[in-house]
Amino acid sequence: MDTILVVNAGSSSVKFQIFSVEGEGRLRRQIKGQMDGIGSRPRLKASGGAGDPLADRAYPIEAVPDVSTAMGVAGAWLREELRIHPIAVGHRVVHGGPDYDRPVLIDHGVVARLERFINLAPLHQPHNLSPIRSILANFPTLPQVACFDTAFHRTHGALADYYAIPHQLHAEGVRRYGFHGLSYEYIARTLPSVAPEIAKRRVIVAHLGSGASMCAMKDGRSVESTMGFTALDGLPMGTRPGQLDPGVVLYLMAEKGMSAASVQDFLYRECGLKGLSGVSNDMRELEKSDDPKAKLAIDYFAYRIGLNAGMLAAALQGLDAFVFTAGIGENSATVRARVAEQLAWLGVALDPIQNSRHARLISQTGSLIPVYVVPTDEELMIAQHTLSLLMNTPSSNPRQERVS
Ligand code: AMP
Repeated sequence: MDTILVVNAGSSSVKFQIFSVEGEGRLRRQIKGQMDGIGSRPRLKASGGAGDPLADRAYPIEAVPDVSTAMGVAGAWLREELRIHPIAVGHRVVHGGPDYDRPVLIDHGVVARLERFINLAPLHQPHNLSPIRSILANFPTLPQVACFDTAFHRTHGALADYYAIPHQLHAEGVRRYGFHGLSYEYIARTLPSVAPEIAKRRVIVAHLGSGASMCAMKDGRSVESTMGFTALDGLPMGTRPGQLDPGVVLYLMAEKGMSAASVQDFLYRECGLKGLSGVSNDMRELEKSDDPKAKLAIDYFAYRIGLNAGMLAAALQGLDAFVFTAGIGENSATVRARVAEQLAWLGVALDPIQNSRHARLISQTGSLIPVYVVPTDEELMIAQHTLSLLMNTPSSNPRQERVS
């Protein structure tokens, strides 16, 4: 059985999935796993395609000190115990910089170019690159593909791409990139089958998970995003503040004496729903809480989504549909209802029963703007890109280069 390994490596966890390649290039998810607690309490957990448990193992801290070792341990488990030898590996890479507008087959030159973007995404890019480097070193003939969170947004026009700062900085790469592109691309590819009537129209897609952003799409292409240079901008998130006056950063440094590193840590880990509520970064906890600050955090989240939707509707010069996706967007009827209240002036009217059922179409028949819930699947998107690059690149013959 030919398989594709998909890797999503973060600072303290490596998530991985195995897809089998079926007839006519169809992919079927076989395994979903992750090694988390890297450097603290390493644990490998994995389940099969139907959710059946396959592994749950703790490791001593010194056995899994970093991300590349974690990938090595997970890879050895797949090869040695499950006899899985993937024909290619697809990686989620957060930053493709200004140039990469599509996935790319990885070689040493590509890794060197992607290393240049580490300072544009210091908390993600180094961890994304680490398993790529170790697989390149240990399995040099195994094809690897980098799939970027920024690539889907490279269709933006100049007005959406620039900050009002001197041109030199834009040339250096200080631009509004936008992120969550693999999720948006999956939605764009899925809409023609799940909601053909809106697929080519003006759509706002709200990716609301622990990271959150929205994308304005026209004809399945990204026109504008709430995120910019880094994944800090736009909507409030689990632990990130979203849009923030840069003066706040100056205040933290000048008045609080915080270093750039401590401000970075603060903005990525201590703000957002967690900072505002003082209760949790998890929407489920906030919904259960009686604390008025938890209520404030939910209200704020919905309010900012409403404000940003207004901005994206202006970018699209109108709106034909709204789509919810990701952890909160797919699962929280409460948040969807609160967001819909913010969008009522645009003509959004939810059907409470369909909303509570998490139906695909959750708006009333008479709603001027139809509202959909479409589950995202970034890993499947990566697996599809990896397979299609493999098939369309004559030099990479998967059957010859299989690792054994
Ligand atoms: P993601 O990053 O897409 O995996 O989304 C993760 C977030 O989704 C979690 O932090 C939760 O806040 C949220 N979430 C997941 N399930 C639910 C649910 N049933 N109700 C509310 N929020 C949820």
